[in-house]
Amino acid sequence: MSFEKDINEVLFTNEQLTEKIREVGQKISKDYEGQELLVVGILAGSIIFMSHLLENLDVECKIDFIKCKSYDGENSTGSITIQKDLSMDPRGKNILLVEDIVDTGLTVSFMVQSLLARGAKSVKVASLLDKPARREYKVDVDYSCFECPDKFIVGFGLDYNQYYRNLPYIGVLNAAAIKAHK
Ligand code: 5GP
Repeated sequence: MSFEKDINEVLFTNEQLTEKIREVGQKISKDYEGQELLVVGILAGSIIFMSHLLENLDVECKIDFIKCKSYDGENSTGSITIQKDLSMDPRGKNILLVEDIVDTGLTVSFMVQSLLARGAKSVKVASLLDKPARREYKVDVDYSCFECPDKFIVGFGLDYNQYYRNLPYIGVLNAAAIKAHK
């Protein structure tokens, strides 16, 4: 199938994304040299970013996932709940939290606070995308690949009503595609 008819604008190509993730992975590897990491992906949007990042992490690490809900279609709900918790105990671990996009900052600020409250030794945040114009909650994004404009974007793991996660680049949907997948 071709996604081209659904996309108004390509913001980041697959090549740009994979190259930048490689650089960020190398930086993280340097920063954590000699330390063990627990890499925690926030499901499901982070999966493609996380898999590319892991390929480029040259440190001893384990992986785990957490799932929460803060978004409904195109609109933030303003509240957050955990749908699937970690399988591992975060106590005493250096955690790298992996997110697809930091928008209002609600999800990541909640997750960082909750992991620290549960005894994590340290928590740093790696996000594929950052939308600083939308920030409502204070978040330190330690490793950000790209800043993006205040547009609703899909692809490379990011969905619209669960569709388009398998789009191999980041793009902006057109009105017809939004209507068809409501
Ligand atoms: P926050 O809690 O920072 O407001 O939102 C984080 C979550 O909202 C992200 O993990 C992502 O699932 C979703 N989100 C925010 N902006 C966008 C966007 O432009 N496109 C998509 N597909 N999801 C977004």
